[in-house]
Amino acid sequence: MIVAESARLPFLNASAMTVGSVVLIPGRTLEEVETILPDLVGHEEEHAWQWAVCLGLPFIPLYFAAAGWSLLRCGDRASANLFERQAGLRRGGYPERPKRPLATLLTRAGGK
Ligand SMILES: [Zn+2]
Repeated sequence: MIVAESARLPFLNASAMTVGSVVLIPGRTLEEVETILPDLVGHEEEHAWQWAVCLGLPFIPLYFAAAGWSLLRCGDRASANLFERQAGLRRGGYPERPKRPLATLLTRAGGK
């Protein structure tokens, strides 16, 4: 894996982002991030393997679909996102929120 420290990605609200086997760390060094998240590299390495298993670019729409599902179920992009769960929520610095009951979501979607 290649680590790119102090990357300039203003749209990114995360401690790091992995693209293929490159870990982008916005605005900080790896050492600085690891004082907060000591196993972040292990988390990002799992994402690198996920990229490989998805054969590259298909990872992107699959990840966003999983993040959307998580937003719907838990109100954040990680708690029910299978990619983040597999990489380790705690290692990535994500809290685990409880899932909302599906019946509640369907009732709200129905407008009542
Ligand atoms: Zn992650």
